Amino acid sequence: MAGAKSITIVGGGLAGLTLGIGLRQRGVRVKICEAGHYPRHRVCGEFISGRGEATLARLGLRELMAQAGAVSARTAAFFLTTQATAPRPLPSAAICLSRFTLDATLARKFQELGGEFHEGDRFAGDFAEGMVRATGRRVQTEAGGSHWFGLKIHARNVSLAADLEMHVSPRGYVGLCRINGGEVNVCGLFRKRAAESVETKHRYELLRGQPDSPLRQRLAEAEFDENSFCAVAGLELQPQPAAARVEICVGDAITMIPPITGNGMSMALESAELAVGPLAAWSREEMSWSAARHKIAGDCDAVFARRLAWAKWLQRIILAPALQSPLVLLANRSDWFWRLAFARTR
Ligand SMILES: Cc1cc2nc3c(=O)[nH]c(=O)nc-3n(C[C@H](O)[C@H](O)[C@H](O)COP(=O)(O)OP(=O)(O)OC[C@H]3O[C@@H](n4cnc5c(N)ncnc54)[C@H](O)[C@@H]3O)c2cc1C
Repeated sequence: MAGAKSITIVGGGLAGLTLGIGLRQRGVRVKICEAGHYPRHRVCGEFISGRGEATLARLGLRELMAQAGAVSARTAAFFLTTQATAPRPLPSAAICLSRFTLDATLARKFQELGGEFHEGDRFAGDFAEGMVRATGRRVQTEAGGSHWFGLKIHARNVSLAADLEMHVSPRGYVGLCRINGGEVNVCGLFRKRAAESVETKHRYELLRGQPDSPLRQRLAEAEFDENSFCAVAGLELQPQPAAARVEICVGDAITMIPPITGNGMSMALESAELAVGPLAAWSREEMSWSAARHKIAGDCDAVFARRLAWAKWLQRIILAPALQSPLVLLANRSDWFWRLAFARTR
């Protein structure tokens, strides 16, 4: 591969690191510029579910996750303030691993494979040929409507009724999920008015749930790891096609699927895998940059369009107070809705 063209990936999160690993496995010279430093906590439900699991297996990373302490989630339950679904088996098991461990493990693997990893390197220039955008979520630009923000903290001493518990409230939801090291990830997505500011004290309260709620009871004895607390705001949840982007993009840089689906990390992994072949071909001068961009964007849109459309409506339905009770009744009486929603958002 001497003389082959090298690739720079801007953003060393899940998508950027997976792409870097895939390209290194094909012998392509790769540099990743990552603005942050590892290990670090991120706002994420830390629940990998969907076709991205097969990507991990194909790239030989599944075993690495297991060695890093990943645990399987096999059951899930939904809770409202006064109602709950019984714990249900997930149609397929999910992989649960803290981003603190996951991202650092992948960064190490990328470097072991000979990749150049630049931490603390925030790219601020223009994207040129040979540069891929893996910079994560785009910031919400629309001034009106709901503004979404995410919060996360790890806790010990939490006993769950299912491997994944989703606690829905009028303001959003909190997911509780067992992760590595005997901890439980407490992660929520909430909406606020554009001008509203949410104080730190109030953020903790949002994660702990309203008084007398099942969430508050679940976390009554929890010991929180304050160092793991993180927040993210300005989340853009309107689906966008990859073909609309002028750069080659992977992961949330294309678009962010509503987190309630637990499929964003899978999309990051899948889009990275879809990009490996065309970028390796560009590096060998067998494909133009423009052809590689069209191929990657077209493949991503073909794979993601349906699940993005379903996810948008599913989030609206689950977070609409008037529909929550009928939904719980439906989910308790039949497997049909449960399985349909799971399948269509993956
Ligand atoms: C509340 C919430 C809960 C979620 N829960 C889940 C879940 O349970 N399951 C799931 O699958 N997904 C979940 N997600 C989504 C998931 O976290 C994302 O889809 C995933 O992290 C996307 O990976 P990425 O690599 O595209 O972006 P990121 O992981 O955000 O990585 C982007 C990286 O780019 C770097 N960067 C940005 N700009 C620059 C620059 N200019 N120069 C250099 N580096 C730069 C950043 O520092 C960052 O490290 C959730 C998201 C939220 C908000």
